[in-house]
Amino acid sequence: MPDSSASRPFVAHNGGDAVDAAWVKARAKALGADLVGIASAKTLNAFPPDPRWPQTPERISPHCKSVIVIVQRIPSGAFRCKTNTPVQYLDMLILRKMDKVAFRLAEELERRGHPSLVTAAQETEWTYKRASYGRLSTRHLGVEAGLGTLGLEVNILTPEFGPRVYLTGILTELELEADSPITEQVCIGESCSRCLHSCPADAVLQWGIDKRKCATEAQEFGFASMLGIFDRLFANPATARETFRSRDFFGFWQGLLRVVGSFGDCPRCLAVCPVGNDYHAHLADIQKVIPEKTPEKVALAKQYKAKRVAHETGAPEAQLPGLSEWNERWVGPEGYKGMVAKQMQQFKREQVKKALEEEKALAEQKEKA
Ligand code: SF4
Ligand code: SF4
Repeated sequence: MPDSSASRPFVAHNGGDAVDAAWVKARAKALGADLVGIASAKTLNAFPPDPRWPQTPERISPHCKSVIVIVQRIPSGAFRCKTNTPVQYLDMLILRKMDKVAFRLAEELERRGHPSLVTAAQETEWTYKRASYGRLSTRHLGVEAGLGTLGLEVNILTPEFGPRVYLTGILTELELEADSPITEQVCIGESCSRCLHSCPADAVLQWGIDKRKCATEAQEFGFASMLGIFDRLFANPATARETFRSRDFFGFWQGLLRVVGSFGDCPRCLAVCPVGNDYHAHLADIQKVIPEKTPEKVALAKQYKAKRVAHETGAPEAQLPGLSEWNERWVGPEGYKGMVAKQMQQFKREQVKKALEEEKALAEQKEKA
């Protein structure tokens, strides 16, 4: 039997470049990716996020050796608006751009003799567990590729752009040097809890999320809403005229047309997260105060904090499932070491330096004039 894992001989052209991790990253960036990292398929196969429903590359292709993970950031302007609609539309544009970047990179790899493919970044595999659960978990791919760690609300937090990102993976049969995961916790954790304070659906758990609750806000016109419309219609056909002219039905149509409303509707936990220089530069002013914050949410965050302290004692009855020995891998086993504060101080120093340089350049210009 031929060795199906060897790189294929039909190299159309290789442009004289060595196709290694550095080449792949440079190409991804040149094509428009904001961040890029590489995870080993062997590691991903050994550590599925939930072993009961393994989201692993080997279930897609047994020949996959590496997964190239690319990140596309969501522009800050989307989080400075009066309503959520701009961010919903931008999400779709970013996904389209990201798919194109990933597809072109896969094509280039294949032209150089390495079979490669892209899977849908936002997909739900019906045969796995219910709720939004794809064949791969892009957030876990990102952690394994060294691009960030999971936050209190289990979004991936990248040091550069916090959770305001989308990710996708390119599966390739080329063996590439994998990146090392970040071992310290990027998320500030329970003492921050801004995502919990902002969540309109009370869906933020401690290093976990209630996906059903989240879907009520984040998938306003998603699959469950569509089923609801038809259930009501079949139960009472006389309401057809009223149903077809309702906001819900229009939202469903809009979803078919532009995908807007099907997912990614609620940006609140993304908007308020203080991780990333994009937050310091463009969001700190506008997102500082969280209107959804209530005394009940503050009390819950306090409870979470006390539970975390108990968890740290190692007592079996105080253990948090989101921080179990298995899950800790994606949260950051070293715990929070002040990454956000250090980044913010550095950012402020750079801003001051830039302002001084601009002032100096202006003065020199005036002198010359
Ligand atoms: S997306 Fe919205 S509803 Fe879902 S967890 Fe974040 S803030 Fe809550
Ligand atoms: S808002 Fe705070 S607690 Fe929530 S993910 Fe961001 S850093 Fe972590």
